[in-house]
Amino acid sequence: MRLKPVPCLVVLLLLLNACVSTQAKAPVTPTPSPSPLPTSTPNPTRAPFPTFTPLPTVTSEAACPFINLGMGQHISAGGSYTETQTSAAGPMVCRIKRTSCAYHHLVGDLNPMIVYKREEEPPFDREDILMHPAMILPLSRLSKLVIKEWGGEVRLRVTDAYDSLLEHDLAQADENRKNSLHFEGRAIDLTTFPIDQTRYGRLCALAHCAGFDWVINEGDHCHAAIGADSLCLRCKNN
Ligand SMILES: [Zn+2]
Repeated sequence: MRLKPVPCLVVLLLLLNACVSTQAKAPVTPTPSPSPLPTSTPNPTRAPFPTFTPLPTVTSEAACPFINLGMGQHISAGGSYTETQTSAAGPMVCRIKRTSCAYHHLVGDLNPMIVYKREEEPPFDREDILMHPAMILPLSRLSKLVIKEWGGEVRLRVTDAYDSLLEHDLAQADENRKNSLHFEGRAIDLTTFPIDQTRYGRLCALAHCAGFDWVINEGDHCHAAIGADSLCLRCKNN
């Protein structure tokens, strides 16, 4: 018996229908509901951010708490009134000669706010502006402190810095044994301008605040020294 052609069509339709039905009736895969937000567990107590405590740097804007240094009184960077210059700033390593390699490592400071005495005859008059490079920053700070301290009426004056003429340690008669940090540019002599010795006690205190490692009030000037590495160590030949 011959099959009627209709059933094929019916089967096809049924199949299509079934397919559609399958699609239609296919169980909707439930969209996974967003997983619940993780229960917010209370944050463990968060360590507070470290607070930035600025170091008590000495700047030209900082107030200088020291009242003054009496005549003959000295002070080290650590605030000691008894520490020696050699302990606070280190010993003289050598005497820098003008013909030496180390001489060319000295720098000239020409801060326009500072008065330089320059009383020696040329070419030695330049020595009042020659110094160890590490001297520049405290000297600049001190100049600003002086201007601020006296309302602009007073400026800082340098009477001696590097010295090749051995004009320091005058008590030592033996020239070969003369010893001063001026001879390697790590010491400087300071006054006010206009000259006013009544202000030197305060000037020396300001020098301490400006960052010099050792300061002494010598009566007619303040002597200040720094503890930087000696320029003598930069050259085989001093
Ligand atoms: Zn001096």
